[in-house]
Amino acid sequence: MELFRLTVSEAADLLSRREISSRELTLAALSRIEAVEPKVGAFITLCREEALAAADAADKALAKGGAAPLCGIPLSVKDVLCTKGVRTTCGSKILESFFPPYDATVVSRLKDAGAVIIGKNNMDEFAMGSSTENSAFHPTRNPWDPCRIPGGSSGGSAAAVAADMGLCSLGSDTGGSIRQPASHCGVVGLKPSYGRVSRYGLVAYASSLDQVGPITKSVRDAAILMNAIAGHDPKDSTSMPKSAPDFTEALRGELSGMTLGLPKEYMEAEGLAPDVALLMEKAVKTLSELGASCVPVSLPHTGYAVAAYYLIAPAEASSNLARYDGVKYGFRAENPNDLAEMYKNTRSAGFGPEVRRRILLGTYALSAGYYDAYYGKASQVRTLIMRDFARVFASCDAVISPVSPTPAFLIGEKCADPLTMYLSDIFTVPANLAGIPGISVPCGFSADGLPVGLQIMADHFKEETLLTVAHAFEAAAGVSGKKPQL
Ligand code: GLN
Repeated sequence: MELFRLTVSEAADLLSRREISSRELTLAALSRIEAVEPKVGAFITLCREEALAAADAADKALAKGGAAPLCGIPLSVKDVLCTKGVRTTCGSKILESFFPPYDATVVSRLKDAGAVIIGKNNMDEFAMGSSTENSAFHPTRNPWDPCRIPGGSSGGSAAAVAADMGLCSLGSDTGGSIRQPASHCGVVGLKPSYGRVSRYGLVAYASSLDQVGPITKSVRDAAILMNAIAGHDPKDSTSMPKSAPDFTEALRGELSGMTLGLPKEYMEAEGLAPDVALLMEKAVKTLSELGASCVPVSLPHTGYAVAAYYLIAPAEASSNLARYDGVKYGFRAENPNDLAEMYKNTRSAGFGPEVRRRILLGTYALSAGYYDAYYGKASQVRTLIMRDFARVFASCDAVISPVSPTPAFLIGEKCADPLTMYLSDIFTVPANLAGIPGISVPCGFSADGLPVGLQIMADHFKEETLLTVAHAFEAAAGVSGKKPQL
């Protein structure tokens, strides 16, 4: 048995029956990384020693019996999440030597559950991007085709899971960064409702949009991870003071009697690849055969979502990233003549071109005299998008759509043209603007053999609906379980 191929639920069964040990499983994941990481580039930092120590501790806990489902499971986390004493770069030179003195709440919850953190995943710098080409360290390659991007910004997480380098990962999603790379890499990615999962220790990009969520090999694994990370955190005042359900219960649900909306603005969007449209039609057929009724719906303000997002997200980023001034964290430019020059040189050399572009855009959008026209207007559009969804959810249990208009594009293809890159986020940013949950579940393959995901979105705090639909679809579509050749 190739242990690194296991899903979390399969491994948890074997671990609890003591048929394998966490040390064996962790060593299998680490040697898989040694074998394929040079071709993929999914990690910024590996934690071999810490992982083996955690695995031994997990084995002791497992021997006592009654351990949590994540006990002894080797997994990775996106390098945007603070890990105590383990370098956390956010894909940026400016945080190149930042060792957080504390764990993000999601990280400490994973550790409390006995999970084994094997490394920190590559990402677009400060989570700004859709391709993981904006990492200050190296790009990540798509395990299905190394000439292509894995998606972004959680591209390292999705590629690691697709290539079996660890059993699952945590990503973050501000405008699609969990769902889009999951779709491009043929794995499952869930963005929870805003407020469902603590953001404490998640390095902030756009605070009103950011959420942490699982990237996994199966829908069941996504539910298992959600059980570990969801729920109120007194350290994050935007986390809902609401207890989280047992998400695995939702996997029992059936689709008969459910109504799924198919938004016409998504299906008629310019640039939707014929392969993706075809797979969507097939998905609708599968879901109908499972007993759901799929009905056309309208989300009329979809066309404004990308513009609103690319004002709100950079505006919030320009404020959040003001803290990297060369004084408090890591990198500082050398030999400045005065303080202003130190700030300027540090930020010019420490941030990459995309991050600098967003800071400039965001600062402009917030500046006196422009605030109403840009940030204010974008916030009004955001309300209209929320209302679009509220209207649809009055009669539909969930909305289904593509995740990305095309399968994974070539490395370098969209680098010179940020606008085309931004436009590829059209189907994912609306969920963040509205604060609703969304999941990407493997749906099929393009004619070129590239994975394509199906997106399911539901009303606030209805992650269980997503899991029910995604789980039934996953079983019927029969596409998960296929592996890239590496
Ligand atoms: N691609 C989007 C952006 O560049 C979304 C990124 C994300 O979700 N972190 O902002």
